[in-house]
Amino acid sequence: MARQAVLPHGQRGWLAWQDVFDLAARGSVFEGTLPVSVFPRFSELLAAVEGDIDARLAFATAGVGRVRVEGRVEGAVQLVCQRCLEHYSQPIGSRVGVLLVTDEALIPHLPAEFEHEVVSERIRPLDVLEDELMMSLPLVPVHPDPADCEATARRLLAAAHDDLME
Ligand SMILES: [Zn+2]
Repeated sequence: MARQAVLPHGQRGWLAWQDVFDLAARGSVFEGTLPVSVFPRFSELLAAVEGDIDARLAFATAGVGRVRVEGRVEGAVQLVCQRCLEHYSQPIGSRVGVLLVTDEALIPHLPAEFEHEVVSERIRPLDVLEDELMMSLPLVPVHPDPADCEATARRLLAAAHDDLME
């Protein structure tokens, strides 16, 4: 489904296609609060498309052919708990630190301690952010507090019991 991203005024730079090396050379910084609905791939992983993401990405040069992106993503999203299958609110908060390269041949020469990503020369900051958001989700989403899953189980049992009694 093609969705037209709607961003608050002053936040449209996230959507502009730009040369990744120009972004780095200028030391471009993107910062703001974005609705979850502007991330189509990320939204597909969620139980509900609602809430906002606070984000900051700063671009810098990091040697020939490399761009360093640092920043943070924060927010809360709706996921399905894999223990009780109820929706719950998952806090997201992670630091971003990634090296972007446009040439796969550079990968063997990158410092192992950094995450890297191969991108095309023209990028949208929003797409870099979306990749980071997707990586920030837990592999197996579950209620942070197991008591919440037990509460769901008790509610389901009580409902089943009521059905039998009717
Ligand atoms: Zn649960």
